Amino acid sequence: MAILEVKGVNKRFGGLLALDDVNLSVVENSIHAVIGPNGAGKSTLLNCFVGKLLPDSGTIMFNNHSLLGLPPYRINQVGISRVFQTPEVFLDLTILENVMIPALAHRDGAFHLAPFKSLSREHDIREQAERILGSVGLLEDRHHLASAMSRGNKRRLEMAMCLVQKPKLLLLDEPTAGMSRADTNNTIDLLKTISEDHEITFVVIEHDMTVVFSLADRISVMSQGHVIVEDHPDNIKGHPKVKEAYLGT
Ligand code: ADP
Ligand code: MG
Repeated sequence: MAILEVKGVNKRFGGLLALDDVNLSVVENSIHAVIGPNGAGKSTLLNCFVGKLLPDSGTIMFNNHSLLGLPPYRINQVGISRVFQTPEVFLDLTILENVMIPALAHRDGAFHLAPFKSLSREHDIREQAERILGSVGLLEDRHHLASAMSRGNKRRLEMAMCLVQKPKLLLLDEPTAGMSRADTNNTIDLLKTISEDHEITFVVIEHDMTVVFSLADRISVMSQGHVIVEDHPDNIKGHPKVKEAYLGT
């Protein structure tokens, strides 16, 4: 079943048609990669999913409900989270505190710390945060300050901060950009573990083919604002249209 269904989406920036009749169908609990050369429209498409941009036409359905016109915080509330390119964590807080804050914010639908007043709730949330830190491999380090973490571990922490809000769909825009090979492999393992441990769907924009082919269940290839191919990874490698898009031949 498709959790996210995109039909005929267009988005124009002045004279440039950044999204040109985009269609995309993302199966629930799958990892769906979106690849394509620079400027293909990948980030623009993702910005339409999170409500940062409004398409000029077309439909975007999430669990059969339209996302069009919803503000970003509402889209987040219905179960769509985005992981940023540079991990955004609170450096002066511990790893555990970093995960407890979004858990509190999510429950209250507002970002404030008043719930710390209630000790039993704090206990629940702490347990929930610790469970998730276990699943991303950071439980042992939970009392360390976030400022002392490696970039790879910050990515793990950021994923934990997302997961504690129990998203149904997680969007990642080039999660391994600028990473060392070791951190990239680390991220691949992390995404695989999360996808196995949680009922969650991923849309991953990625330029690193190692990442794409080791993770994706399905791949959409974009070029010049258009999805030129959508298929199983085995059929993407060597596809003439894909070669053409990347090599311009
Ligand atoms: P990708 O993520 O695939 O590299 P983008 O979605 O960032 O591509 O960009 C697609 C095209 O739209 C590019 O030509 C880019 O310059 C243009 N573009 C993106 N965002 C804007 C914007 N806010 N205003 C004008 N042009 C934009
Ligand atoms: Mg981009």
